[in-house]
Amino acid sequence: MDPNHEILFEPVRIGPKTLRNRFYQVPHCSGFGTDKPWTQAAHRGMKAEGGWAAVCTEYAPFSPDSDEAPFIAARFWDEDDMRCMRLLTEKAHQHGALAGLELHHAGGHAPNTQTRLPSLGPSQLASDLEPHIVPKAMELRDIRRVQDDWAGGAMRARDCGFDIVYVYGAHAYLPMQFLSPFYNKRTDGYGGSLDNRARFWLETLERVREGVGDDCAVVTRIAVDALGPAGIHVEEALRFVELADHLVDLWDVNVGSIAEWSKDSGTSRYFQEGYQMDWTGRVREASAKPIVGVGRFTSPDLMASIIRSGTWDLIGSARPSIADPFLPMKIAEGRTDEIRECTGSNVCIMKVDGHGHLGCIQNATAGEEHRRGWHPERFERAGNADKAVLVVGAGPAGMECAIVLGKRGFEAVHLVDAAGDIGGRLRWIRRLPTLGDWGRVVDWRRIQLDKLKNVEVITGTRLSAEQVRDYGAQIVVIATGSRWSGDGIQASTHEPIDGADASLPHAMTPEQVMEEGKRPLGGRVAVYDAEGYYVGPGIAELLAKEGFQTHLVTTMDVVSPTSDLTLEGPMLRQHLHKVGVTAHRGVTIERVEQGCISGEDEFGGPFSLEVGGIVLVTQQMSEDVLYHDLVGDQVALDASGIEGVYRIGDCLAPRMISEAIFDGHRLAREIDGHDPSAPLPYDRERGVPAVDPVATR
Ligand code: ADP
Repeated sequence: MDPNHEILFEPVRIGPKTLRNRFYQVPHCSGFGTDKPWTQAAHRGMKAEGGWAAVCTEYAPFSPDSDEAPFIAARFWDEDDMRCMRLLTEKAHQHGALAGLELHHAGGHAPNTQTRLPSLGPSQLASDLEPHIVPKAMELRDIRRVQDDWAGGAMRARDCGFDIVYVYGAHAYLPMQFLSPFYNKRTDGYGGSLDNRARFWLETLERVREGVGDDCAVVTRIAVDALGPAGIHVEEALRFVELADHLVDLWDVNVGSIAEWSKDSGTSRYFQEGYQMDWTGRVREASAKPIVGVGRFTSPDLMASIIRSGTWDLIGSARPSIADPFLPMKIAEGRTDEIRECTGSNVCIMKVDGHGHLGCIQNATAGEEHRRGWHPERFERAGNADKAVLVVGAGPAGMECAIVLGKRGFEAVHLVDAAGDIGGRLRWIRRLPTLGDWGRVVDWRRIQLDKLKNVEVITGTRLSAEQVRDYGAQIVVIATGSRWSGDGIQASTHEPIDGADASLPHAMTPEQVMEEGKRPLGGRVAVYDAEGYYVGPGIAELLAKEGFQTHLVTTMDVVSPTSDLTLEGPMLRQHLHKVGVTAHRGVTIERVEQGCISGEDEFGGPFSLEVGGIVLVTQQMSEDVLYHDLVGDQVALDASGIEGVYRIGDCLAPRMISEAIFDGHRLAREIDGHDPSAPLPYDRERGVPAVDPVATR
């Protein structure tokens, strides 16, 4: 270990418990909750194995007052839930970590769609997260009941083996709603002055402490600056910290609110590593207790300097712990170059909230620990490791596949790409404004490929079907990716756009702009985005910064709706506005001519724009010619000695980078199965009836 990092491995006490080092996995959503208890336990357990001193669940409502459905929470209402969570505490302890439960009450934001109970808030004010939710203003007996329930939840947590129980206030949930004048307009002893607004939180901490005694550490999570109206600002937060310090064993500090969660879980596009410290770095001024903060930390030097300075006692992490569950162990073993750094893309959040199951752009095994049995650091030697493998295409899918094949002990893996460098589309995506950190997907894989002596990387070599057949490999994996269509074929018409042709000077694809330097003829350009994620806006910003008068024309109702799923939407739109990009929404382009594009607006009226060129970000098409040339000539294939041809990533179907990586990983994990092209079934975790409902009828 680098002696500079030794401080990160000193134990620290939080109340009655001791953390073995300074790495603390703060609560984060997963899509597992108590609905997928084995998946939950395996995911958190993997981080415990990777060296984290504590692993916490996502938000855990302790009573039907706070029902988060359709979002998946670590619901902790009763003994059934306790049985689910027992798996997690056991796994954490097996690997020497403490387990934390983020007990939670959403207050006036609680959707309560399943329980059909009214939500409860300090005052009757519509939720700024979901304005259709208007809570009941809590009566004194509601306050008492919620506090009792919170203490009851904490005692169940203790009985379930949790070492750490939360009074979760951050993200503008119930305790913060009492503390903040934005939510709290009460005129009784719970409203008005800071002392009064703090009362609910302080009493709840007292009740929870009484409940768990010295059996658990009591942690509270607070957003020390809402960076908006829905909370409090740092000066008031520091006064609250002074009031509550004697009741807290550890402060878990962050920024933002639930409606402004984007400012807590800030993406790399708009937030640097450690960005929260301007606010959360001040908590030491008011507290004598241990503090944990977050900020997408992946640099061990920076982590060590924070601990050394005394600003915080623990480095908190959600996203970096997903990207690399073994981050602490790699630092301990002096393998810092092997840390799979979080890209800050927030694909994890899209996966959890949008798709209902955690995933990661960097770590294909995240969320697959239980259901597919994938370990991020352990790979079994493949049954057919003596075969020579050729992977064609070193984009995300090909790189990942070659690495996993290498780790599975294949004696010879060749990764060949036509371009002068590895990375595939990321070679240029990382050059789009604000997307530099996505390049970490390539950087980590480059280091891995360099280390794997059984994997040879060959660039600058475009292979034809004949060359592949003559290569001498028995297994061939085609990962040749996809390209944006040059004729404007698009989702809303499923036809090319009349006159759109990227071989003409005034029409171009994203690759032509980024790889060939093709530019519009005049000073005004349209970027036509029928996809709605990052490529259209990225190219628009790039061209605007080059001085083109840039119009982003999109078929969508808002610019880049997919960015809303990564919490980037509002900032991205504001950012584009700032750099001078003009947006046109709800437009379908039907004709492209030199000097003009035209089509229909959202109301069916005519739309036209005079432009010197159009960038067509309409849809991608797989680059599958090589694959079809190979499999289309079975006689030649048989004669070549090739036993299996597979394709992965965008060559199969154009998807997000995370899915291309998953695809490459999966194929390599299953390459010695009966038919590697067909994924093995995985364990679909569902609630299993405790007794046979038919037999007992
Ligand atoms: P994915 O996202 O599926 O990994 P990409 O589009 O990012 O795919 O990368 C595909 C890579 O395949 C590109 O780097 C491209 O240069 C390479 N490639 C495409 N066709 C060939 C070929 N015939 N021979 C070698 N490399 C190829």
